[in-house]
Amino acid sequence: MAEECVPGTSGEPVVAAVVGAGAAGLSLAHWLARGGGPGTPAVALIEPAAADGAGAPRTWCWWEPPGGPYDAVVHRSWEQVRVYGRDGSRYDIALGCLRYKMLRSADLAALVARDVADTPGLRRITGAVTAIRDGRGAAELDVDTPRGALRLHADWVFDSRPSRLLPDARTTLFQHFRGWFVRSEAPAFDPSAAVLMDFRVPQPQRGAAFGYLLPLSEHEALVEYTGFSRAPLTGRQYDAALTHYTGQVLGLGTPHTGFEVTGTEQGVIPMTDARFERRVGERVFRIGTSGGATRPSTGYTFATIQRQSRAVADALLAGREPLPPRPHRARHLAMDAALLRALDTGRVGGAAFFEQLFGRNPAGRLLRFLDGCSSLREEIAVGLLSPVLPMALSCLELPLRRRRPVGGRDPDRGAAPRR
Ligand SMILES: Cc1cc2nc3c(=O)[nH]c(=O)nc-3n(C[C@H](O)[C@H](O)[C@H](O)COP(=O)(O)OP(=O)(O)OC[C@H]3O[C@@H](n4cnc5c(N)ncnc54)[C@H](O)[C@@H]3O)c2cc1C
Repeated sequence: MAEECVPGTSGEPVVAAVVGAGAAGLSLAHWLARGGGPGTPAVALIEPAAADGAGAPRTWCWWEPPGGPYDAVVHRSWEQVRVYGRDGSRYDIALGCLRYKMLRSADLAALVARDVADTPGLRRITGAVTAIRDGRGAAELDVDTPRGALRLHADWVFDSRPSRLLPDARTTLFQHFRGWFVRSEAPAFDPSAAVLMDFRVPQPQRGAAFGYLLPLSEHEALVEYTGFSRAPLTGRQYDAALTHYTGQVLGLGTPHTGFEVTGTEQGVIPMTDARFERRVGERVFRIGTSGGATRPSTGYTFATIQRQSRAVADALLAGREPLPPRPHRARHLAMDAALLRALDTGRVGGAAFFEQLFGRNPAGRLLRFLDGCSSLREEIAVGLLSPVLPMALSCLELPLRRRRPVGGRDPDRGAAPRR
């Protein structure tokens, strides 16, 4: 990968410094390379060395039509998704002209490494950004590289470093999960559908718990146990929940006899009605999760990151101010805030809510709603098919509640270590 850094001196000024090569940083670099080609302005993508705590590998899923920008590196895709209710009822959702796509972070990183090699303006810097100073006309970054300190000047900075503290909120829950990549001797999975939510697991008093299953073949799958609650579980609790889900619900047997665990994935995603800043200086923007790209009610982030990255890349290439567009519409955030409040108070059970959502709404409306692309009329229809009274009560209550400090550590950093 083309890499350039000049320890101890000032590096060449760049038009854009992209801080962090996770989903948001990689996506922005890719959209710039796609749109700009040889005319891409000078852009530095800065990520610490793996040994210094760079992002752990993860998988990202989202839905979009075939022929998307990452299709060449998409690991697997499905034409159908599925939800199981607590009583085992099954809701199959045909995606029609959409596909549910699974992308591995290592594959996106490899794609962007090729972009960097092929695009003269793009360069990659291995190092941790330790300071960003906003200024008039340009910003300044300090980067701690394996070869020494580097000072970089950039017209614009796009910062995707996870925030240490979540902003003040009325409600903050976490979507937390551990997944096992499993391989079974006997054919055990239906590769035709990804299971988004399987509520056939014990439900907590507040929030929700469910299985998530991405079948890679009849013999291989990523099987996750997910909770929506105020705090993550311990490693032992996740493993016990996964043992129960794989053994008792999926009937796979035990990890040693019925199937083999070939890898794990774990994470914590904030579900919060906090307000995230997109602009933190004249020249400095936040992108990705730390810029509010996560949809509070679902944890889905990747599709929003794509919309924002594309808009930012277009603006940069056209020489316009590259303020990232609002990640979510105000009314979607209001609905999500009401749902979080309803879940947190226990007025609405997560399993009941999502069973109704998936069971009562037609596929197109449902997917547009989850993606934040639904019309007001569709949202009213969704609202009327959800538990109306507890949701209305939660909604009415929101203006009376103050946003308060969460006081927790950044959730991704606070996640239990992977095995
Ligand atoms: C395990 C997991 C699975 C997920 N799956 C999905 C999914 O299927 N679909 C979906 O829509 N969302 C998913 N999410 C939510 C969201 O899409 C991801 O968290 C996504 O990675 C967020 O992208 P990001 O760029 O904001 O943050 P990250 O991907 O976390 O990237 C931040 C980057 O900043 C780097 N960094 C940190 N400190 C510094 C520093 N000082 N200097 C330079 N760089 C630094 C980190 O190394 C990291 O690479 C998932 C989250 C997790 C944790």
